[in-house]
Amino acid sequence: MNEVLNKKYPYLSNFFETAISQERLFHSIILYGSNQYIQYALALELARQLNCLEDKRPDCDCQNCRWIKTNKHPAVMTISKIDNKSDDSKTVISEEQINMVLDTLVNSSDYHRVFIFCDAEIKKLSEDENKEYQEFISTGFNTPQEGKEDKLWYPEGINNTCFTSVAANSMLKSIEEPSSHITFIFLTNNKDDLISTIVSRSQAFYVADTKNTYYTTDFFKKYFANYPEFKRSDALDFAQALLLYRNNNNVEASYVIDCLQYYLTELIKANSDNKILVNKIYKDIKRTELSKKMLNAYIKEQTVFEDLAFYFTE
Ligand SMILES: [Zn+2]
Repeated sequence: MNEVLNKKYPYLSNFFETAISQERLFHSIILYGSNQYIQYALALELARQLNCLEDKRPDCDCQNCRWIKTNKHPAVMTISKIDNKSDDSKTVISEEQINMVLDTLVNSSDYHRVFIFCDAEIKKLSEDENKEYQEFISTGFNTPQEGKEDKLWYPEGINNTCFTSVAANSMLKSIEEPSSHITFIFLTNNKDDLISTIVSRSQAFYVADTKNTYYTTDFFKKYFANYPEFKRSDALDFAQALLLYRNNNNVEASYVIDCLQYYLTELIKANSDNKILVNKIYKDIKRTELSKKMLNAYIKEQTVFEDLAFYFTE
């Protein structure tokens, strides 16, 4: 995985790396959160991992990696109101663009096709945006357009204005019945910015605009020593330990869940040969997403942690 992403998003990097290596990546992915630039970087890196002809290492120089990094790969396309279009509409992803996407799907290809749907602007970047831009560019990646004068191409979240329900609905069939070598990735601020028919057919990942680059996992080891066995008598203790960790270290409750997710992806790596166990871990990771949703809905943290702890004893 690209080193910047690895450092900033160890959990997502780990998760996607294992999902790709086990060919379990969903055909339609939504990345949501406030930072579209990092989402774009992640989408491009996924495209690279899906197409690499060698060992997927960050500095790989195979033809596919080279093309994807320079954003010139014929099968990895950014679809926005200003990218990959031949008509005059300036404010929306047009039906012509969608038809172009659907047309390319008719023919088989040796490549794994990746379509990155986002909004985009050529604009003057703020200091923070520029810093992030340069950081990612320095790892060898390029945006789809170079920009003009002091303005640069920058991704924005897709929404119902630039990606109308008519355009979105005309893609549903392809999302529902995908062929094996196609991945759709939607970048957005909020899942509610996309029509529900797309959301329900996709796997959504929250890309936090986080400054935490390190996940603590040590304190899980005690409770997960016999995983997937989990003692019922330990559940309340475990919930209490999560809460204590959150309070003593002054971190967000969702960060504690992030740590647990990271720990679980490490377990996948360590047990990749054990298919049954890996399936169970994926199920558990999915359940931790529910805990995050509960936190977002302002359910009491203690309740969320206890609920999660008892889930593990089932
Ligand atoms: Zn490669």
